[in-house]
Parts: sequence; C-alpha cells; structure tokens
Amino acid sequence: MVRAARLTAHGLEALRVEDVASPEPGPGEVLVAVETVGVNQLDLNLIAGVGPGAAVRLPRTLGLDPAGTIVAVGDGVDSSRVGERVVVKPNVPCGACSWCARGREADCLAQTVIGGQRDGGAAELVAVPHRNAVDRRDLDAAVASAAVHSVPIVLNALETAGVAAGERVLVTGAGGTLGQAAVQLARHLGAEVVAASRQPLDLGADVTTVRAPSPAELATELARAVPDGVDVALDVSGHAGMLAAGVGALRWGGRAVFCSASVETSLELDARAFYLRRLRLIGVASADHAQVRRGIDLVADGVVRPAIARRYPLDRIADAYREFGEHRTGKVIVDVA
Ligand SMILES: [Zn+2]
Repeated sequence: MVRAARLTAHGLEALRVEDVASPEPGPGEVLVAVETVGVNQLDLNLIAGVGPGAAVRLPRTLGLDPAGTIVAVGDGVDSSRVGERVVVKPNVPCGACSWCARGREADCLAQTVIGGQRDGGAAELVAVPHRNAVDRRDLDAAVASAAVHSVPIVLNALETAGVAAGERVLVTGAGGTLGQAAVQLARHLGAEVVAASRQPLDLGADVTTVRAPSPAELATELARAVPDGVDVALDVSGHAGMLAAGVGALRWGGRAVFCSASVETSLELDARAFYLRRLRLIGVASADHAQVRRGIDLVADGVVRPAIARRYPLDRIADAYREFGEHRTGKVIVDVA
C-alpha cells in the first residue's frame, strides 16, 4: 500500500489522503518513488469538475509533475534506469494522430495528462510511460517539479515566436511562475525584455519594468516606456485584454503569443492594422519532449531559477489546493516523501 491523494468526487471535501494499492509499472512504463509534486491550475479544474477537468473519471490520484527516483521498470524498459533521478513530463502524446506522426507531440490532438486521465504523482509511487520520466540531473526534486510544467511551455512560446537576439520582448503577467521563467528565458535568448505586471517588479537593471493593473494602463505605459514598440508580445497573464494591449505595441513583423487564457478570453484586434503591419498571433500549450529536456537543462545550468512560494506535506495537500490562489509569485510544492 502507498499513501496517495485521491479525488473520489468533485469538490475539495472529497479529496482524501489514504492508503491505496501500490501501482505496478506496465509495459513501457517506469515506477517512480515520489519526493515532490506541484500544485497546478489543472488540479483545481479537476477538483471542481470544470473545463478540461470535467471529462476526467473519478476516483483519481492527482498530481501532474512529480519528481523522484525510478525504483522499478516494466517490460521493454532498460533496467539500468532504476536509480535514475527523474521529473515527470505531464503530457502524454497519443503517438497515433497526424500531429504526432509529424513529430509535433505538443500539438497532439488526443494527448492525455498524468494526474488527469491516469493516476498522478501526489502519491508515494506513480507509474508513468518511460519517456515521460526525464532525467533531472542533480536538480533538487522541488525545483524540478516547479520547472517541468512551466519552463518548457514558455520555451515553446518563445521558440514558436522565433525570438532572436536583439529583439524586444514584452512579457505580460511577468510576476507569476510562467512570467518569471519567460523573462529569464528571453534574456537568455539575447532579447531586450519589457516586463509588465499588476504588481511592482524587481527584475534587475537590465529589464524594463512596467506596472499596469489594466489593459488601458498597459497601453499608456508601453507608449511611454517603449514608444518604438516591441517585436514579440508574450502574455502569460491569461487576460486577453493584456494580450490585445501587447498586440497594439507590436512593430512591423511583430508576433503575439499566448499560453494561457483564464481570466478574460475575448480578444479584440484591429484586423486592418494587424495585416498591414504583417503581424502574427500564436497560441501555444504544452511542450514537446525535446523542449522539456532543454527546459530542465536550462534550470540545471542556472539559466532559469523557478521560484517556490510555499511547501506543504502530503497530508495537508487540501490546504495547498485551497490556498493556491494566495501564492502568485512562485510555485506551490507538496512534499510527498
Ligand atoms: Zn497524437
């Protein structure tokens, strides 16, 4: 038996930390002894039974992004992986659709998620497809859990937008977990960064910061701070109004990219200005295996430093979910072992 956080029905009161049967690694899978797992918006959607969480069958062990050590392997997996320190890539591509066939697993039409369609890592043991268990080198488990879901997504966003050295990148929502990673990655790519947030930011002397609690204020502040515009507007605030203000600041050939839409989803654009200025609008979700690998390497190499806001023991995971919204400036981590 292992301790696991099981959601038995929708609602946080139906979340139980209890002893369940120990999972076994199936063919092509590895069994991971979990040290840490992160708290994510998708967990809250699952608990509430809304959005992408509505279709998931219960009961389910939660936890998208566990980190730990491989303790057993299933048929067809190299047994030398036992003992490897890993972090788990949350998304599992179907491997059968036309997007997977083209090597675009982040855009797979039928991808599933660990801790969603299959049992996750808020448990002492979790079985995952061997390819999802990524070597975390010498990274601390909590840092790896904090990085594996957020860093590759913003890496995907910046790579898809084709950010080049010397370009100017606006990051809206820069104070949060995704935003901090986006600022650090854009700097690493050699971009000049403008970071916008509702809260005052301290990101060092080489980052221009703009405080803008609303889209109208963002437009005004950008016109003042960068009157000649930006090349890329990356929104991670999930607020379409902020993205629209970023689009308004794009110069010739600019790209707007967003990887969240949770606050306000109706996007208004001036179509005429959009095509005359040769602009592009890109939606990015998830990341492919190579981007997860690069994201973890960038963290292990110290290029990106994920912030951890608070840690909870597994027995208090319900409190971690309940208080998630209070921790906007870093990742919330659950210590499983
Ligand atoms: Zn697929």
